[in-house]
Amino acid sequence: MCKITVYTNAEIFTQDPLNPRVNSLAVACNEIIDAGESLENKYLGAKIVDLNGATVIPGFIDTHLHLKWLALQKQWINLSGTRSIEELLSKLKEAKTPWIIGRGFNEKLFSEEKIPTRHDLDEAFPEKPVLIVRVCGHIGVANTQLLKKVGLWDNPEVVKGVEIDSSGKPTGVLKEKALEFVLEKTPKPPLKQYIEFMKNVLNELLSKGLTTVASMNTDPLEFYILQSIDTSLKVRVFFDVKYLETLSKLMIKGSFGNEKLRVKGVKIIGDGSFGGKTAALRHNYVGTESKGELLITSSALENIVSEAKKLDMLVAVHAIGDRAIEEILNVKESLLGNIRIEHCSLTPPDIVEKLSEKRVFALSVQPHFRISDTWLPKVIGESSKYAYMFYTLSKRGLLVSFSSDAPVEPFDPLVNLEAAISEEGVGERVPISEALKMYTKNGCLALNEKDKGVLKRGYKADFVILSRNIFREKPSEAKVIATIIEGKIAYGKIP
Ligand SMILES: [Zn+2]
Repeated sequence: MCKITVYTNAEIFTQDPLNPRVNSLAVACNEIIDAGESLENKYLGAKIVDLNGATVIPGFIDTHLHLKWLALQKQWINLSGTRSIEELLSKLKEAKTPWIIGRGFNEKLFSEEKIPTRHDLDEAFPEKPVLIVRVCGHIGVANTQLLKKVGLWDNPEVVKGVEIDSSGKPTGVLKEKALEFVLEKTPKPPLKQYIEFMKNVLNELLSKGLTTVASMNTDPLEFYILQSIDTSLKVRVFFDVKYLETLSKLMIKGSFGNEKLRVKGVKIIGDGSFGGKTAALRHNYVGTESKGELLITSSALENIVSEAKKLDMLVAVHAIGDRAIEEILNVKESLLGNIRIEHCSLTPPDIVEKLSEKRVFALSVQPHFRISDTWLPKVIGESSKYAYMFYTLSKRGLLVSFSSDAPVEPFDPLVNLEAAISEEGVGERVPISEALKMYTKNGCLALNEKDKGVLKRGYKADFVILSRNIFREKPSEAKVIATIIEGKIAYGKIP
């Protein structure tokens, strides 16, 4: 028998439509056994925790972030907010590692407003290999030394996405597959240090009120490291699609693991990003002859999804542009139910219509893009009014879950909630009640699970205690007092 704990004297938002607001919760073992008014009077002899009027919501569930990059970036130079190429170079000079990697630059903030080339990097770093990664994670720039080290200087054709200048040499700009190719070849920290970095990341996530996160494009080393760490954070894994064949051979199912760490599916990239002008649009990017690049076909996707379906795995497909989303919707209806669309950013009315008719499994969308991508009209023009239509998609019956795509955007759910409800920004604002649902209950469902994200009898006792009522005040002004996972304090302190 487990002892009962009653958390009381709180403003509790349950996400249970039949019982939305209560002032107390009763928890036994790892589950909620009751949600109601002053339950301390009902469960005599229970341990009572007086929450002093604090706000309680279900634990946040982030359905798409990148744990590997969050961990590896601990040793990279942070270039976010850099205002010029000169400032970028001076930040890179602080690095003490043999290979210098910087992340998060955004040329739209530069006075020069252009993506640097190897020439900019070569001048400052003639000898050390240097790589900088754009904020979107889809574009990078390498210097000549690095291009030589990874073999792209002499053989740029070995991988797609190496930009070439008029003399036939790489400009240093690397897109998509080429960036991936280079990142794979950069030195990884020693295992012990990698594990330490990952532990720190998981603790940071807990401190922000996250109780479950899904890590995308997982590779075997990341999976090994996650298995090696004892954390209360619940991690769900979408392996990079290149491991599907191996998973298939090993007959690993899409539910393998335990409540702490579970396999979910595979992730495949369908197009690029708006910022890199590589997302696949149905029209040209402003001032160019380019519509971006589609990286999948519906028939190739059908093969992948049928393979994954045999293992009960989900296939998470990155699709930002309307052309990429349309391509997914050409997949056979019988397979669509295994597809989760990641980003699903540009949805003009006819695409919304098709999405609501054809029913993919779920969507994972990023509210923070709304306030990061204010330049969107300049890049894609008129159609930007159809970007980030999260509320419409949800109203049309799609299962819309929220995510940060960290490290692309900050992983703090309160910051992301504020971006979702903001009057400013691109696309639609989402009312706070709906936004919270997308970050909790819908997140659990979008991971094909059913026992989290609602504070109701039989659900896991995963919840967050906040210093302020986010329905009345700005979410970003609230602080996480404690994160409770399965009835135990995973972060913070309660009286
Ligand atoms: Zn991502």
